[in-house]
Amino acid sequence: MPELPEVETVKNELLPYIVGHHITGITLFWEGIVRQPSVEEFRSHLIGQKITGIARRGKYLIFSLSSGKTLIIHLRMTGSLLLKSAPAEPDKFARAILHLDKDAQLQFRDPRKLGVMWLVEDESNIVGKLGPEPLETGFTPQTLQKLLEKRIAPIKALLLDQSFIAGIGNMYADEALFAARIHPLRPGGTLSPDEVKRLHNAIQQVLWSAIGNKGASTNTYFRPGGEKGTAHFEFKVAHRLSGDLCPVCGTPIERIVVRNRGTYFCPKCQPEP
Ligand SMILES: [Zn+2]
Repeated sequence: MPELPEVETVKNELLPYIVGHHITGITLFWEGIVRQPSVEEFRSHLIGQKITGIARRGKYLIFSLSSGKTLIIHLRMTGSLLLKSAPAEPDKFARAILHLDKDAQLQFRDPRKLGVMWLVEDESNIVGKLGPEPLETGFTPQTLQKLLEKRIAPIKALLLDQSFIAGIGNMYADEALFAARIHPLRPGGTLSPDEVKRLHNAIQQVLWSAIGNKGASTNTYFRPGGEKGTAHFEFKVAHRLSGDLCPVCGTPIERIVVRNRGTYFCPKCQPEP
């Protein structure tokens, strides 16, 4: 599933091809992909708009429009945005196509139809409740320490909570906890200052490294040009099979379920609480 590094890659790779272009048409193969407003309003507002910028907040892509409104896209489990030159065959799983000037088009590919688009006046209605961005300079070990204070939820669950920190999902939560040598079930508030520092460092390190590798294509994620990312080749515990060995100590990696999410860790490197 696309997480911060995948969405950041999509943003970075679309930016030079999309910004400054006008939307000339919209094809919807699956109207359920438009969450807000109505399909008619969505279409009539977007056609003719110039895309003036793209940003990322958490796992959301935020397209600024010349009207001052904002198009927000969430790829959810299986979404990709594919940049094509018209005329192009729609991808088998294309749910929407934004047609752009100069023969460009953006195909929203989404096998499981879980992705969402919103057109809003005020983006904070959608992204306003997100926690801090873990790669921003303001996100320090002290920020993390403060967030963790008195929290009794398992650290894995906190890392997945988008109102706690934005952008981290199942893969990078497992990778960060492994790198920090912290058991996924440790209650957040019990981490020592040294562990908080290690976790802060591990979060930033795994996310930057994954961005450098253009995201992880474990399943259905593609970069806008159709290529896969390679971040998953560096995964130490995420997406392992039970019985795979820890790359550090050789102990079999274990799988547990935390808040309904399969969670992989090394019982020796990440000892029990
Ligand atoms: Zn180990």
